[in-house]
Amino acid sequence: MEKLVFATGNMGKMREIREIMEGSGFEILSMKEAGACPDIIENGLSFEENAMIKARAVHELLPDSIVLADDSGLEVDALGGEPGIYSARYLGENTPYSVKNKEIIKRLEGVPDEYRTARFVCAIAAVFPDGTEKCVRETVEGRIGYEERGEHGFGYDPIFYVPELGCTTGEIPELEKNKISHRGKALRKMRTEILESFSDGK
Ligand code: IMP
Repeated sequence: MEKLVFATGNMGKMREIREIMEGSGFEILSMKEAGACPDIIENGLSFEENAMIKARAVHELLPDSIVLADDSGLEVDALGGEPGIYSARYLGENTPYSVKNKEIIKRLEGVPDEYRTARFVCAIAAVFPDGTEKCVRETVEGRIGYEERGEHGFGYDPIFYVPELGCTTGEIPELEKNKISHRGKALRKMRTEILESFSDGK
């Protein structure tokens, strides 16, 4: 069975990709399960570059597998797109998200609803056994709220209000979020790309 390796150590992401790739006929493995955990320096200047850096690094160790990697983050328009590709590192890697979230709300003090627009972005890169590379990008649009709301999710979810849902992504369960999320959408798009590549005989 063809191996599809996801370059992450995050079990939540592995759950999501297993759910989305179910029935695709691939054996889905995390990089740890596949025995490849290279040191990766994410020094790209875009989500796409960082995702590709991770996918290439793991593909070097596992050239016969399809390797996928993602990079994601929150872009706040009123902050010129910050924290963007620095979302995980914003205010320091080990700073609790309650602090990061409060700081973003504070920086948006006095900013009215219509200028509080923001989006979660996810890029997913793939490197195929023949060396072909692909990258997809998806977003979910929302607004920065005025307070943290919700116990679900992680990271910036409690301050990311989605008007169509009428709540933050921190207020919906994981399976609901996967249906609308940047990562869910990007994974489904990549699934289509992979299945098309294979029907082309790659
Ligand atoms: P990475 O792609 O795993 O490096 O994630 C980057 C960072 O973006 C995370 O650590 C979070 O701070 C933020 N982020 C990405 N996706 C989400 C999401 O769905 N909810 C909340 N925060 C997110």
